Amino acid sequence: MTKKDIRSLKPAELQTILSDLGQPSFRIRQIEEWVWKRSCKDFNEMSNLPAALRTQLAEMFSIHGIVVDDMQRSIDGTIKNAVKLHDGRVVESVLIPTDKRITACISSQVGCSLDCHFCATARLKRMRNLNAEEIYDQVVNIKNQAEQYFNRPLTNIVYMGMGEPLLNYQNVLGSIDKICGDSGLGMAPRRITVSTVGIAKMIRSLADDNPRTNLALSLHSARNEVRESIMPITKTNPIEMLRDAMNYWYSKTSSKVTFEYVIWKGINDQIEDIKALVKLCKQVPSKVNIIEYNPIGDDRFRMAEAEVIKAYQDALGEIGVVAKVRQSRGSDIDAACGQLANKNLANLQV
Ligand code: SAH
Repeated sequence: MTKKDIRSLKPAELQTILSDLGQPSFRIRQIEEWVWKRSCKDFNEMSNLPAALRTQLAEMFSIHGIVVDDMQRSIDGTIKNAVKLHDGRVVESVLIPTDKRITACISSQVGCSLDCHFCATARLKRMRNLNAEEIYDQVVNIKNQAEQYFNRPLTNIVYMGMGEPLLNYQNVLGSIDKICGDSGLGMAPRRITVSTVGIAKMIRSLADDNPRTNLALSLHSARNEVRESIMPITKTNPIEMLRDAMNYWYSKTSSKVTFEYVIWKGINDQIEDIKALVKLCKQVPSKVNIIEYNPIGDDRFRMAEAEVIKAYQDALGEIGVVAKVRQSRGSDIDAACGQLANKNLANLQV
């Protein structure tokens, strides 16, 4: 029988086990610091625990880790990691350096179930959810790479890698708790952005739980018929439903949603498309990030002309919404938005 990972225990469960072993309550704090803050993977190294307890814990539990199986560097400095999980599955996480920030883009699921037509990850079936420690370990790895290769601290985290964070809700919240907690990395939640395809019910849950992170929504069209043709999730979560959920989010958090938006030729480059986005931005306190399209080898999708992008920006500017164009990073190594598909590692998928 495989041993349970000690980091998968809830604090109350660990507390019960420790008291059954006759240990004082401060041990829980010591153990949490070892396994989270210090990312210790060997009970024998936990030098402030009695030797007998270390042996007992090692008999009862394992501590899984992730292994960077492949690391690629882009000419723009971006680093893409293929990260192998304890069961051999592989996900990707990306370090994105800019002048002011070092951002970790991390995965929340192996593959994805959503089938957005323009996204390479959609071609991998969703194989499983990541657990909180697997998400957390991706952040630790990128934090170490930021220090090692850039001599700078990790400043931001975006849940924009593989998978849909809100379909792995509890584990994503668990990872945020450790990234921000004292026994983990102690980062400020406002440095974290959770990005969703738009699942109204879960946006409301996130608003209720309010982990104080930012929220981004991958919109790409504010017209149901257009959005549905490229993002099937729109059938069950139409724009009106998302609009109400985002207003609920704002009422609970006072934090504006960021719309992520790619503009494609012949798909969402008409005046009606611009008008629909302007209307939605008037209804929901929001910001807009226009993302460059990263080709994934599908001729249906081509980035719109510069004039169209300008027309979007001008129309949004008129209602006081700044829409910045986010330049693609790491596209030469398939590390940019929508390109994560374990391309070099297809043989490692088990
Ligand atoms: N499932 C979540 C997290 C993934 S984030 C979500 O949908 O938000 C990845 C972001 O990249 C999303 O905004 C997605 O819509 C966008 N994206 C997907 N494919 C892309 C592509 N080929 N070019 C540019 N952006 C893309």
